Amino acid sequence: MPPQTTRAVVQTGPRQLELRELPIPDIDDESALLRVEACGICGSDVEQYTGTIPVRWPLIPGHEPLGIIERIGDRAAQRWGVNVGDRVAVEVLIPCGHCRACIEGSYHVCRGRGGMFGYAYVPLSHPPGLWGAYAEYMYLDPFTIVHKVRKDIPANIAVMFNPLGAGFRWAVEIPDTGPGDTVLILGPGQRGLASVIAAHAAGADQIIVTGLTRDAKKLAIAKQLGADHVIDVEQEDARQRVAEITNGRGADVVVEVSAYAPEPVAEALHYVATGGRIVLAGVKGFKGVPDFVSDLVVVKEISIKGAFGVTSRSYRSAIRLIESGRVPLATMHTHNFALEDAELAIQTLAGERPGEASIHSCLLPHG
Ligand SMILES: [Zn+2]
Ligand SMILES: [Zn+2]
Repeated sequence: MPPQTTRAVVQTGPRQLELRELPIPDIDDESALLRVEACGICGSDVEQYTGTIPVRWPLIPGHEPLGIIERIGDRAAQRWGVNVGDRVAVEVLIPCGHCRACIEGSYHVCRGRGGMFGYAYVPLSHPPGLWGAYAEYMYLDPFTIVHKVRKDIPANIAVMFNPLGAGFRWAVEIPDTGPGDTVLILGPGQRGLASVIAAHAAGADQIIVTGLTRDAKKLAIAKQLGADHVIDVEQEDARQRVAEITNGRGADVVVEVSAYAPEPVAEALHYVATGGRIVLAGVKGFKGVPDFVSDLVVVKEISIKGAFGVTSRSYRSAIRLIESGRVPLATMHTHNFALEDAELAIQTLAGERPGEASIHSCLLPHG
């Protein structure tokens, strides 16, 4: 008997989640139904939960889905190259395929379907409603982008395609990192550690990671994952350490992935080498950056690029790396949560649960 209903976590307002039983829709020739195996929890889940990101409620959160194709229309199977029983990683953004961004190859910033149209961003009122992965089953729109993933990898590791994809895009694809480059990563959270893994895989010469005193454990994991040096910015003079490590040159690439604090953005200008590249990917709640000395950008000819989201190319790099088994990814996985513990999962990632430190965590809706 195919499932008729699904349990799903529905967000009705800031900090308001409830578990509901929702009907599973019929799918047509061009769409599919996903049996969600795992959904990664990330910083934007916290922002969505607290209401910092403007969305239309009620909706089902969860934008990092990994799952098995439960049902699929013939045309979707043909277009996507997958079939019932295949395991897929699902990209968050659902592009329109026709707007200028899509046509010019920047589909990941497509706004052609009205605002940011993607999983966990579309309200329940938009048929068929199941647009989020905090659920046992999820709808897959005809414009969904999926990537096949080998089925013998544990779901809580395979679902890391999302942070790792971000690592590849932010620390490798955008700054064009390769052998000979010194890469400095500001912030040792899941995105920072993913950047370490990606920069290491790309053959970076030296990798340096900064963090706070309370990040000691994460900095130790950074070393296991390929960082050559770690700096505690509260205990050490970070500018001086970076200068020492790079023989006074500075880092070729600086990746800023710290959450909320604007200071590292201003500091990045001091850490980067002349002619170097800075990638800004950590959001700061739309605060300004004090002490941002723009003259440094001029005299050092620094390139600064923003990064929002991940592209197919970087998702593919991430999935191949996961499948290779070459990186001890389990060292950064800290928590599995059941569907009914979604709120606990978000609060744990946010650091709102004393004594619980999360790096990578996920929901496993089927247990
Ligand atoms: Zn995410
Ligand atoms: Zn578009």
